[in-house]
Amino acid sequence: MATENSRQRVDTPGAPAPHLAAMRSPDRAGAPGGLHDAVLDLGGIRVRWLYDSDFHLDGGAMFGVVPKVLWSRRYPCDELNFIPLVACPILVEAGGLRILIDTGLGDKLNEKQRRNFGVRGPSRLEESLAARGLAPGDIDVVVLTHFDFDHASGVSYRDEQGRLRPRFPRARHVIQAAEWDDARHPDPRTANTYWRENWEPLAEAGLVEPVDGEATLAPGVRVVPTGGHTRGHQVVLLEGRRATALHLADLMPTHAHRNPLWVMAYDNFPLTSVEQKRRWLEAAVAGGWWILFYHDPFVLAARPDEEGWAELVRTGRRGLPGDKK
Ligand SMILES: [Zn+2]
Repeated sequence: MATENSRQRVDTPGAPAPHLAAMRSPDRAGAPGGLHDAVLDLGGIRVRWLYDSDFHLDGGAMFGVVPKVLWSRRYPCDELNFIPLVACPILVEAGGLRILIDTGLGDKLNEKQRRNFGVRGPSRLEESLAARGLAPGDIDVVVLTHFDFDHASGVSYRDEQGRLRPRFPRARHVIQAAEWDDARHPDPRTANTYWRENWEPLAEAGLVEPVDGEATLAPGVRVVPTGGHTRGHQVVLLEGRRATALHLADLMPTHAHRNPLWVMAYDNFPLTSVEQKRRWLEAAVAGGWWILFYHDPFVLAARPDEEGWAELVRTGRRGLPGDKK
């Protein structure tokens, strides 16, 4: 960690792992949303976080059967029990490709949806890309971990005539075939989250690449299906020359979900979530991998140990129980 500020955000005693030296904060002003403009250099694979939106969901729904008395020791909530979340798409550069993992809430939500999901402010994904010198047309691959609105609404936008357009016009959009199928044929429960205005413009433009099982997108970059949260949920494994990182998507929405049994009430197949989380965390502990977060306003990445987290890379935001006021 290069700066004084960022050094304080690693909550572990002892020297950081060598590849973390490449995690730096060159330009805080270039990190919309008050998040850390960190770079994780895995060796041939570079990871950065973008910022789309802040939103809020019920803490009970986010922590499932876990009693509030337990989860509230690890994560804050307001007087209505809403917890703060962000949508932070992850930008991966590898093998000459720019790969975007998930796309945020976008800017198509109506007033009622914005109120229900506690969305604050407009989508800032394009601004966040621009702060890194990139435009949507520079993205080669969009990975959709799953098609829930908070991950997939950024794939399309309305132009001045009100027509829906794909936001990433050159990108192939990689999604598990099962998820693509379910998104287009939602059941009464998933109809709340799989929206036609997200999938239809992609389908019409022929930009979707459904994959059935594991797929390699660039050297060291792999998607692996897990199910659990949704039937076709997938995670992204990034194996660089120096280090490995794993994005567990909604199997691990925040660092407070470290316990394999702490799964969301939103999960369609909770036992699968538990089993997959346990398996991947074991591999991550054994390999010293980083876990990357999309929804956590406080932590960008963390390295698990047997008990919990050996190391946390914090964003610029405070507000966790235990943070100094
Ligand atoms: Zn989500």
